[in-house]
Amino acid sequence: MPKTFVACAATAIALTFAAPAIAQQAQRPQIATTKVEGTEGVYIFRNGNHQSMFVVTKDGVIATDPVAYGRPTGGQQYVDEIKKVTDKPIKYLIYSHHHFDHIAGGKAFKDAGARVIAHKRATERLKGLKDPHTVIPDESVGDKKVIKLGGTTLELLYLGRNHSDSTLVMRLPKEKIVFIVDTIPVGAFPGRGFIDIYPLETETFIQKVIAMDWERMIPGHPGPGDRLGTKDDAKAVLTLMQEASAEIKKQAQDGKCWDAVEKDFQMPKYATLPGYQAGLGMVARRYCGLWGRGT
Ligand SMILES: [Zn+2]
Repeated sequence: MPKTFVACAATAIALTFAAPAIAQQAQRPQIATTKVEGTEGVYIFRNGNHQSMFVVTKDGVIATDPVAYGRPTGGQQYVDEIKKVTDKPIKYLIYSHHHFDHIAGGKAFKDAGARVIAHKRATERLKGLKDPHTVIPDESVGDKKVIKLGGTTLELLYLGRNHSDSTLVMRLPKEKIVFIVDTIPVGAFPGRGFIDIYPLETETFIQKVIAMDWERMIPGHPGPGDRLGTKDDAKAVLTLMQEASAEIKKQAQDGKCWDAVEKDFQMPKYATLPGYQAGLGMVARRYCGLWGRGT
């Protein structure tokens, strides 16, 4: 009985915290396009709680992630938003990684004449899965590709396995902006992104990202108040992962994975971060997989 009571109390507290955030989100329009301050043509397209970057140049547009999973008109709405900003053609659509919540909805871009580009493992997976809402890439990238369009340079970089095994880091060297999806949450506790993450490789990945030359990161999910990420955010996520990993490693090696750890794991230091309650179990389960199972 006392255990049940504690669980209910925790749920009640979580709901109390969640309520204002939900109320706030309800007031936001479903779709918004904003220009990134201090840039000539870098924009963020947001649909609900997903977002992606597009770059307008004098010779055309480079778009990324359609973010239209479960949103049948989302791809076309994204194209329409771009058309409100420019009459230049959409030349490219680049996938950040293979997860459908970010890349479903590319047909409208393909119909508009865009060339669809992804990491080679994204293409392999998509060809196997044949998701009816996700366009198969026209071109696959290995470790690096540089796109130059209308005076803008965009690097597509594969830095190893992380949140997925198909993530392309997109870097605008002149603007010192990177677009990185899901691996480095901004101002939030990790959640579903942990389901199939490669935990150890992700630490190496984040270290490589920190070593690169950039100042602002556009995340695939909006940060608090829509702020962009910084290297401090990347360092904070790395620290959080190292702490969670070390703690669960100990418990796993004491034979406590899965049930006990999944139920009891806490990181009080991070309790005020959005997504904390919902994310704890995801993080615990993944590290139990690693240290308690060897996966
Ligand atoms: Zn993802």
